[in-house]
Amino acid sequence: MLLQDQVAVITGASRGIGRAIALRLAREGARVVVNYRCQEAKAQKVVAEIKRAGGEALALAADVGDYQGARRLIEECLKYFGRIDMLINNAGITRDALALRMTPEEWEEVLRTNLSGAFYCCQAALKPMLKQRRGRIINITSIVGMVGNPGQANYAAAKAGLIGLTRALAQEVASRGILVNAVAPGFIETEMTQALPPNIREELEKRIPLGRVGSPEEVAEVVLFLCSPGASYITGQVITVDGGLTLAL
Ligand code: NAP
Repeated sequence: MLLQDQVAVITGASRGIGRAIALRLAREGARVVVNYRCQEAKAQKVVAEIKRAGGEALALAADVGDYQGARRLIEECLKYFGRIDMLINNAGITRDALALRMTPEEWEEVLRTNLSGAFYCCQAALKPMLKQRRGRIINITSIVGMVGNPGQANYAAAKAGLIGLTRALAQEVASRGILVNAVAPGFIETEMTQALPPNIREELEKRIPLGRVGSPEEVAEVVLFLCSPGASYITGQVITVDGGLTLAL
């Protein structure tokens, strides 16, 4: 039990990578907040799964891209569990379009959710973490934030922004015992990637040196490591989990 009695907030944990992170941290003894935006039934299913396995969890609705929503999320966590030790900024969306055709709404919605949402949650969580003089923040970025991707100018900008945020914040709070890192998944099997046309999917799969798509659980293992005592000397880093894909691009 690496995380016994610690409290984690995982944004966007009703499905996909966030769900896998919530289940994995809970298995190590963490009490978890399963945040979601609109799919309450799915979030409650994750909570039920954690409770069935003997863990503690709470589903909380909040749009992290809304400043007040993000603050309320952290406040409710503090009210219910009394502390916050880990914040996993995982909530993310795509609104793909070629840059020339991208609407201001598509640009802003992705930046608001994927980048501003993470910043608002960090800001709200930092206060109690600074008081405790300990905390771990993990931002889920993407290899797209490092290498770009046509049709995803908004998503690439937001994910690259998350890397900058991670590096700046890591330096601001290191002396207070708070570690800030990022995880950059490649092509992971979730609803987000199920939306890809089969030909693009096949093409991508062929380029992955490990020869397959990754699972949400494989990302969750890395997040667990970054939350664990074993990662006590790591901050400001981006760990890529992509089966070698960026090497082959
Ligand atoms: P997903 O299956 O589409 O799940 C997205 C999650 O985010 C859902 O739980 C959703 O909640 C939540 N969410 C969306 N907007 C939100 C908001 N404004 N406030 C709070 N929660 C919100 O996505 P995924 O594939 O698991 O991706 C998770 C993260 O990994 C994202 O940041 C994504 O960019 C990143 N990533 C994914 C891949 C991949 O290949 N899948 C690769 C690299 C990076 P509701 O369902 O309740 O709306």
